[in-house]
Amino acid sequence: MRRTMVAGNWKMHGTRASVAELITGLSALTVPSGVDVAVFPSFLHIGQAIDGLKGQAIAVGAQNVAVQPEQGALTGEVASSQLADAGCTLVLVGHSERRQLIGESDEVLIRKFAAAQAQGLTPVLCVGETLEQRQAEQTLEVVGRQLGSVIEALGIEVFARAVIAYEPVWAIGTGLTATPQQAQDVHAAIRAQLAAENAEVAQGARLLYGGSVKAANAVELFGMPDIDGGLIGGASLNADEFGAIIRAAGN
Ligand code: PEP
Repeated sequence: MRRTMVAGNWKMHGTRASVAELITGLSALTVPSGVDVAVFPSFLHIGQAIDGLKGQAIAVGAQNVAVQPEQGALTGEVASSQLADAGCTLVLVGHSERRQLIGESDEVLIRKFAAAQAQGLTPVLCVGETLEQRQAEQTLEVVGRQLGSVIEALGIEVFARAVIAYEPVWAIGTGLTATPQQAQDVHAAIRAQLAAENAEVAQGARLLYGGSVKAANAVELFGMPDIDGGLIGGASLNADEFGAIIRAAGN
């Protein structure tokens, strides 16, 4: 039985004051027993979140990680060993904003995925198609290629210790959401791709949906058989809304 996960990607948002307020709100939430909750603050606020959420059932992850696991001469980067030392347990890899706006290649994100696991962090691998690709009916091909590149480089077993987030690029931060059936179709294809390599890994892998998830659409999305929770952007910056999404995951 897979546990549901609700993860909040705070992106490049927050000040010390707004993060403190968010932490206060999150600390007041009751996390349902079958749900894992995580937040991904900016690097600057990771320590504040870890300290502020001590004793809460909320894990803290990073939005990015260096390609090498050990500390070293790599100005501006943060090693997975440093994230683990700080108390992080997860890291986002291959978010579409990094693929598209920063130009992160498959080769780079594969190294980041491996660097995260080398230090015991759980990578959350983000995959998803653009609007043009969906309209050209290339969704499954694109997502299959993104996932396949990691499987090919690192092997299927790495997905026993990873989470996959399907995030259609056209739904991120746009207010547009994939319908539950559209999301389910892609999640089923992802699970089938994993199953073709290893049925046990496929059965255990948690597949999150991301793209304008809110309390209002979470119940229907999370009710689909291959959707094991959500990666939430904008709505995770509001503790009440995020709390309502967490409750939806517990239903
Ligand atoms: C995201 O950035 O991962 C995301 C899903 O954002 P939003 O919920 O705002 O669409």
